[in-house]
Amino acid sequence: MGNDLSCPVCDAPLQEAGTTSRCLLCEGAWVAEEALVAILEQRASTLVELPWEARQDKPRPCAECKAEMQTVNLGSVALDRCEQHGVWFDMNELTQLLKQVKRFKTADHVEPEEHRESLLHRLAKLFASG
Ligand SMILES: [Zn+2]
Ligand SMILES: [Zn+2]
Repeated sequence: MGNDLSCPVCDAPLQEAGTTSRCLLCEGAWVAEEALVAILEQRASTLVELPWEARQDKPRPCAECKAEMQTVNLGSVALDRCEQHGVWFDMNELTQLLKQVKRFKTADHVEPEEHRESLLHRLAKLFASG
């Protein structure tokens, strides 16, 4: 599985690299959408929801089925997406996206860290004054 993927940009065969498949020529990366969400959730330490925004651009072929991909934005990163197979990242785009991951946290999982911290703080004061 995943052996006959080809680069949407250079048409070169992609090499498997962990959860991504990389093009050695243009350094782009192909990531299945579930794998992408897993990578981002691990990075954010919470659930994330990806706010895809449609973009008008020249479509590229899917690495897997060769159908035209949707051109989309995720945060400020411009990507190509085949809904069935995955997402294409040009060189450095995956790194850029990982830097923006905090934006994609779901509202239900807003980090209660501040709350926890103030609680600890109050407890600490309680013990200190006792
Ligand atoms: Zn390539
Ligand atoms: Zn596809």
